[in-house]
Amino acid sequence: MKAQEITAPCVPLSELPKPLDQLSESELERKACIGKVMTHTLQSLTSTFVDSGFQWLLPVALSQSTDPLWSDPGASIEKRIEIDIYGKVVRTTASMIIHKLVASSLAYPKLFILSPNIRIEKAERAKTGRHIYEFSQIDFEARDASSKDVFSLVEGAIVKLVTSLQKDLKAELEALRCEPLKVPTVPFKVLDREDLEAEYGADGWEAGIAESIKEPVWVTNIPREFDDFEDFATGKWDNYDLFMPNFGEILSGAKREWEYEKIMKKIERDEVKKENYALLLKLAKEGKTKPSAGAGIGIERIVGWATGVKHIAETQPFPRVPGTVNEL
Ligand code: ATP
Ligand code: ASP
Ligand code: MG
Repeated sequence: MKAQEITAPCVPLSELPKPLDQLSESELERKACIGKVMTHTLQSLTSTFVDSGFQWLLPVALSQSTDPLWSDPGASIEKRIEIDIYGKVVRTTASMIIHKLVASSLAYPKLFILSPNIRIEKAERAKTGRHIYEFSQIDFEARDASSKDVFSLVEGAIVKLVTSLQKDLKAELEALRCEPLKVPTVPFKVLDREDLEAEYGADGWEAGIAESIKEPVWVTNIPREFDDFEDFATGKWDNYDLFMPNFGEILSGAKREWEYEKIMKKIERDEVKKENYALLLKLAKEGKTKPSAGAGIGIERIVGWATGVKHIAETQPFPRVPGTVNEL
């Protein structure tokens, strides 16, 4: 079947995404069509990073130290997975942020990792259409980079991706989407979270911005985990999220903290367990951590945005909808 012949392309799913064995013939065709956009996206984004001099590292699944996901008011984790191996407690990777800080400081000044993340999101998040309990990020970090460097790298990557999708997968995009996917205008606007809170309220600004924008928008100055840079004098955070129109957040990142005193102060303030970040603290104390900036692009989210699916688990061959466990 050709991409154009996919049944009811623009009709949003009425149910949550199902596993492969429960899909009809036309739903399987649709799945394969989304799969082509996924393959293209992975190829385009990874080649942008390789061509820009980033080294490609493989991910790890189990570590003593992983992303605390705290104190980010947006985090909604039902359970944290910890197991004992060789007499030590390890955790499944929530993100590779700590690994990125250590690796970019010590050995790989520009790096990226295609990294599986496990976050057992609360089951009620099944219906957001934007949360799955296993997802992947293209997580990257660059020593001595600024937020502005990250903005232009990501904007270039997205323009290249959309331009090539339009050229190479025109029929697939037309079959999957109700409206054409436009090449975004660069540079993207930069907004401050405090201004958005004044307009939409502290709890409503993320939904408000996603609905109101017609072009991608950076949002900066978002209080969250200790590794994002905070200017103690002004109280402003040098970090950012990227929001896409009619979709929402597809990326989070920051300029990073690298100085021991600040990292320690923030770990204590957040009441995060110091012993889980002993290596990072030791390296920082020895002056071995270096300034950097980076971000992680949620792969299922960027493909979900490009394909216009209602639920990002549609981009997964083996859907990870919060609250539902399938055999595969
Ligand atoms: P949200 O506020 O949307 O729940 P988050 O801000 O908690 O997400 P981050 O910790 O910033 O998520 O994760 C980095 C990126 O990984 C996000 O920008 C997003 O693209 C992706 N991501 C995070 N959580 C999920 C999830 N549960 N399912 C799919 N992608 C996710
Ligand atoms: N990947 C994100 C970053 O680089 C962190 C996260 O996933 O929470 O900032
Ligand atoms: Mg985020």
